[in-house]
Amino acid sequence: MLLNQKYEIFPNEEQKEMLDRWLQYCRQTYNSALLDKQRKYRESKESYRRKDMQTQLKMDKKNYPFLKEVPSQPLQEVFLRLEKAFDSFFRKDKNYPKQKKYKDYTSMTFPQFGFNAKGNRMAMSFSDNGKLYNTKPKLGEIDLLLHRPLEGTIKQLVMKRQGKRWYAIFSVERQGVPSEMDPNNAIGIDVGLHKYAVLSDGREFENPTFLRKKEKQLKIAQRKLSKMKRGSSNYRKQVMRIRQLHEKIGNQRRDFLHKLSYNLSRTYSVVCVENLNIRHMVRNRKLSKSISDAGWGMFRQMLSYKCEKSGGLLVKVEPHYTSQDCSSCGERVKKSLSIRTHICTKCGVVLDRDYNASLNILQKGLEQLLVTN
Ligand SMILES: [Zn+2]
Repeated sequence: MLLNQKYEIFPNEEQKEMLDRWLQYCRQTYNSALLDKQRKYRESKESYRRKDMQTQLKMDKKNYPFLKEVPSQPLQEVFLRLEKAFDSFFRKDKNYPKQKKYKDYTSMTFPQFGFNAKGNRMAMSFSDNGKLYNTKPKLGEIDLLLHRPLEGTIKQLVMKRQGKRWYAIFSVERQGVPSEMDPNNAIGIDVGLHKYAVLSDGREFENPTFLRKKEKQLKIAQRKLSKMKRGSSNYRKQVMRIRQLHEKIGNQRRDFLHKLSYNLSRTYSVVCVENLNIRHMVRNRKLSKSISDAGWGMFRQMLSYKCEKSGGLLVKVEPHYTSQDCSSCGERVKKSLSIRTHICTKCGVVLDRDYNASLNILQKGLEQLLVTN
């Protein structure tokens, strides 16, 4: 089943000019192929097919190098449109195809999107930060507003001008996502120090109180130890006590993480988390203690195999800017770790910092899932 999902895109002035130019080149190609077809028929009563048009386009590109500015996919798709127009005419559904005027020709089609089988980018794809992307020296990145998640495998992209606005219309195939993986049932999770996990549906999971109690006990015990005389019998007893506390905390944390990951993997079919480089983060000494204790790596591992077991999927996304970017408009709002609220300077949205991050993680994960499918 193919479905169209339409999103507004926001090209800057330069990009708008280029898109407009591409449309004009497509329109000219359409019109000149139509003329060629009519001439051929007049002169020899022979039909002029798509293959002939493509041969002509190759020659045209040599004579008119500006045609090379347009990616070849939408330029070639023009002939398919012409063919369809004649088919409708012969079926008596429509009038004889006419030369297209500026206002009649408002869209171009990219019959492929994302990455090819070899993993190379097609003419249009999503960039790493989720924008519409065309190879750098040309269009570059265009902002788009994913007001609802893309659901399915992207089969083609139509870029359309309507008045002064531009839209991206994705043709999406639903079967692309395995049936048991319902993207509507996806969740983004932000793990952190303040709350253990914040979910993109608004749920929050605190570190359990008994764990925090034990951690306080541990801190006190460690302080006590530092005042004791090294090697004394009291010192050795205290070391034992601390070791036992560590063990208890470890067990309780593992227990907590097992329950949490089990619960999440049974509730959601697609779970998106950050692919945090723990080793890199632990180098930051101030954070190091709590991070290595928080067992984030263990949590991710548990999630991974539990999701797999229940027929779901764990998607790991790159952590760049997930806490900075605005989940509602995409604006990058720089903020230090101590700032707990995301206040967007562009669209004005105000969200809990971690909740905003969880929404970004979900969006990134879904995009990743769709592009790799
Ligand atoms: Zn915003």
